[in-house]
Amino acid sequence: MRAWESVPVPTVPGGDDGAVAIYNAAQARLLPVGPPAGTARLYTCGITPYDATHLGHAFTYVSIDLLVRAWRDAGLEVRYAQNVTDVDDPLLERAEATGRDWRDLAVEQTELYRADMAALRVLPPDGLTAVSAVMDDITQTIQALHERQAAYQLADPDYPDWYFSVTSTSNLLDGAPVSVPEAEHVFAERGGDPERAGKRHRLDCLVWRQQRPGEPGWDTPLGRGRPGWHIGCTTIALNALGPAFDVQAGGSDLAFPHHPMCAAEARVLTGEPFARAFLHTGMVSYAGEKMSKSLGNLVFVHQLRADGTDPMALRLALLAHHYRSDWEYTAEELAAAQARLQRWQAAVARPGAAPADGVITAVRAALRNDLDAPAALAAVDDWAVTPGSDPAAPAAVAALVDALLGVRL
Ligand code: ZN
Repeated sequence: MRAWESVPVPTVPGGDDGAVAIYNAAQARLLPVGPPAGTARLYTCGITPYDATHLGHAFTYVSIDLLVRAWRDAGLEVRYAQNVTDVDDPLLERAEATGRDWRDLAVEQTELYRADMAALRVLPPDGLTAVSAVMDDITQTIQALHERQAAYQLADPDYPDWYFSVTSTSNLLDGAPVSVPEAEHVFAERGGDPERAGKRHRLDCLVWRQQRPGEPGWDTPLGRGRPGWHIGCTTIALNALGPAFDVQAGGSDLAFPHHPMCAAEARVLTGEPFARAFLHTGMVSYAGEKMSKSLGNLVFVHQLRADGTDPMALRLALLAHHYRSDWEYTAEELAAAQARLQRWQAAVARPGAAPADGVITAVRAALRNDLDAPAALAAVDDWAVTPGSDPAAPAAVAALVDALLGVRL
């Protein structure tokens, strides 16, 4: 399905040399990501379209957008794939609870997401792939796992669901932020079913669920039903990018089990790594708690926009936090970002300013150093209060802020 309108990205001189590095959790250090030249490949886990787009989502996708922009600044092309999990439990539960058709809810929320992303000037992926559109591909992936003895059907007379066998591959917990004893607990908390009778291993994850009453189903050789969550991303990413792509990105709540499960399934299929690196964004809280549907403390981008918030101020409020940090959103955060936006707008409207070379170097270096947006913002702040008379500098800094930070002044 279509993504959203892109925006032009100005070229900032001098970016061709040097690599972008991000923090690698498995090795606990910064490592370059992307090839030295050519095309970088990125897969981002997309929304489940039932409550798009709250600020937690916005923080994730704006943070990942910094990577896309930093890669492009370094002279790379970017092949970028993203899914929409439009068949999954939370969406079906929300549809049921609100008496709506799940398809209508998914279409409506996906459209809101597109509008929010465009307003925030997030560069779009090459395409959005809905899970519901690739049932044949997903079925083939599961069959291929089965041929390799890595997927099996449960001996349950009512619901003979299909599972991925985690013991068919090694290193499931590689890079995952959980210990072996914690794994089952986190797995259960995030959609897994360690207690399901008949599984070979308690961490085996569902790949195909036979249709239950009231649930949607697709007719396949695996039975009439729908896929599990992880296998959708595995299939979509491999088909769009091939194996051993550069980065798989998403919120830190995907660091286990979602990303390791995708990677484990893919390793069995291709014999190669899945993503070479992961990018995990921090969680956003509000009113003292992590934003979540169960607590009802969600702040929505479309609501802020309807209230008259400038999306560029919102983008600056998000960029004031390093992508790996957990943070709390407050109205003061937004007010501070609005004030910063106005200061920057006034600074680039001057007839002359301090030369742009220093701030270009500083912003570029900050972003290539683990996408350090707060340091990049501080560099622009410094330039904005430095007097000078270079007539070319204001336009050069406006282009820099647009290209690398995605903020149009
Ligand atoms: Zn995913």
